[in-house]
Amino acid sequence: MVEIKTDESLQAMREAGRVVAEALAAAREKAAPGVTLRELDRAAREVLTAAGAGSPFLDYHPDWAPVPFPAVVCTSVNDAIVHGIPGDERLADGDLVSVDCGAVLRGWVGDSAVSFTVGRARPEDTRLVETAYEALEAGIAAAVVGNRIGDIAHAVGRVCRRAGYGIPDGFGGHGIGRTMHEDPGVPNEGRPGRGMPLRHGMVLAIEPMLLAGGADEHYTAADGWTVRTLDGSRAAHAEHTVAITTDGPRILTAL
Ligand code: MG
Ligand code: MG
Repeated sequence: MVEIKTDESLQAMREAGRVVAEALAAAREKAAPGVTLRELDRAAREVLTAAGAGSPFLDYHPDWAPVPFPAVVCTSVNDAIVHGIPGDERLADGDLVSVDCGAVLRGWVGDSAVSFTVGRARPEDTRLVETAYEALEAGIAAAVVGNRIGDIAHAVGRVCRRAGYGIPDGFGGHGIGRTMHEDPGVPNEGRPGRGMPLRHGMVLAIEPMLLAGGADEHYTAADGWTVRTLDGSRAAHAEHTVAITTDGPRILTAL
């Protein structure tokens, strides 16, 4: 079931989304060589607390996970694609990091992710990150009334594939509202003109994940959460929560 949000609900989701954006900005500002991933989590946590927001990530415990998720952000470094647990590992010069964060404010959820390098970036990582944002922008541009889910999927996938990157099977975006994961699924690759029609009031998390090695295979690490590329190549992830409106796509997780 796809929930169509009222304009008042979209406004409330914008407020939740702004908190996510602020938390991500705080985590990113903290990130530098020598800083632990746990410190990024702490920076994001302070923003959520100050805003009176909860975390949809903390204690999230899906069937497939051996333990509840212990943090308010996922930190996925280098060959980690998504769902990395922020612990005592220290960031090193040239690392490629993705930080994914959610917030719940007055019952509404926002979800967004950023990727960036710390210290001296490798040119190939800069290109990977830039392409992730280009794919996200293409997906958002396709998120208009009259299009279908497949148009978003196609727009995202085309940018990734044209640049020669892999797309992890089984991962993608999702509807979002009072809970983090709602219908419909938003694949990162697909056929234009297919799938559910987009209507005013639908809210989607669009989230391209790009694998530098060009292959799509991945595995889950021993912690039961961290998803890594099988070939050891680096990955980037970018995400926004986006409302479909008759005035065009509205990014709810912008600053
Ligand atoms: Mg996310
Ligand atoms: Mg998401």
